[in-house]
Amino acid sequence: MRGVPADPQKFAVRVAPSAIDGQGAFAAEAVPARRKIGEIRGESISVREARRRAKGQQRIMIVELSETRAIDATHSADPLRYTNHSCRPNAVLRIRQGRVEFYAMREIAPGEEITVNYGETHHEGRLACRCGAPGCVGAL
Ligand SMILES: [Zn+2]
Repeated sequence: MRGVPADPQKFAVRVAPSAIDGQGAFAAEAVPARRKIGEIRGESISVREARRRAKGQQRIMIVELSETRAIDATHSADPLRYTNHSCRPNAVLRIRQGRVEFYAMREIAPGEEITVNYGETHHEGRLACRCGAPGCVGAL
């Protein structure tokens, strides 16, 4: 078992069709508030390459880590790569030491879809938001 990193997934998450968009990441067990849910890992690329890959794509799995580096999780097996955006999310994405980590903002019930606020996206407000939350800003 040389060189096999520990699984960063702390709570069970399953991928299923989402009412928000395409597939979503759903809690398969209860997650207490403020606990780490897991991470998404992927190919380490430059932001320039990330922007090139994102061009013209509706759905991407790229997270920019810094001004210069990004992670492309397209070929990752981590279920949190399917996390959808919500204007009223139940989780938060944190970039820490080059890792993309998800934490529960409040208690998340089994079966609940895990969502984060993407903040600025490559869509630059051109993509309609269908999160359905009260106070939805309406665009990504
Ligand atoms: Zn919204």
